[in-house]
Amino acid sequence: MIPLLPAPSLGIDIGGSKTQAVLLDEQARIVADHVRPTEMGSDGVIATALAAARGCVQLAGIGFGDLRGVGVGIPGRVDHPTGVVHTAVNLGLGRLPLGERLGELIGVEVRVDNDVKATLLGVAHRLDAHDADLSYVNFGTGVAAATLAGGRLVRGSDNLAGEIGHIPVRPGVGRCACGQDGCIEVLAGGAQITRRLSRLTPAASLSTLMAAASDGHREAAAVADLAASGIADAVQLVVLAQGSDRVVIGGGVIQTAPELADLARQLLVGRARGSAFLASLDLPGRLVVAPPEQPLAAVGAALLVRC
Ligand SMILES: [Zn+2]
Repeated sequence: MIPLLPAPSLGIDIGGSKTQAVLLDEQARIVADHVRPTEMGSDGVIATALAAARGCVQLAGIGFGDLRGVGVGIPGRVDHPTGVVHTAVNLGLGRLPLGERLGELIGVEVRVDNDVKATLLGVAHRLDAHDADLSYVNFGTGVAAATLAGGRLVRGSDNLAGEIGHIPVRPGVGRCACGQDGCIEVLAGGAQITRRLSRLTPAASLSTLMAAASDGHREAAAVADLAASGIADAVQLVVLAQGSDRVVIGGGVIQTAPELADLARQLLVGRARGSAFLASLDLPGRLVVAPPEQPLAAVGAALLVRC
């Protein structure tokens, strides 16, 4: 049975370009939805989140005083018990006590967590998999994962669990923003894929990558193969490390070039041909693409209020 939410619950997904708020009823159905462009810096992020929240409750014809819970998902390192964001480079944030500051403005306790963990909760809700062994891997600007183990969010020390983008898998392929060589994020993170594509002649973009590759552009095909191998590595890694039944993949890279998921699946099929062990795990069968056009992160943020 699906655990009920204290209703109405508001979820806010703060992203690098847009901030989305959704209002959920107790069955976690969306009853209002409002999107704003994200302003940078501490004051900008707070102002945007507040405006998105206000827009959402106004659409539903209620006030902040009617809210029973508010959750926020934000990229970066988040101390979830205190709601303090330590760093969120893409939003121009250093340390920000986001939960406290937004809570004072809204008048309700605000829970804050990393956006990938919030998205996983949204995915689990969408798949009706609350008690599952389920992972979500986000291929956005960077690469990160989140896992439910028997329905419990795996956090580890400092809420750090899931930073798999910084596991080096391919020495020599390029330097990562973290300082290491050949991280998964170097292969399959959006920033690195885009940088690699900008060097091609003619220059390609993520949205034209797969068309260029299938038109016989060998360098574009090599970029796609490298990205797909990073996706396959990430899926294999979370299954082996966490024992996840399903690994859902999403984020800007997958939304813009969904064929990369097919390519990654083919790579996993190929790896299983050479390994009876991998074949027994059925990695391709565990790979699921996140449903597009769903505000999974904002819905998941609202579900933080029952974590
Ligand atoms: Zn790295």
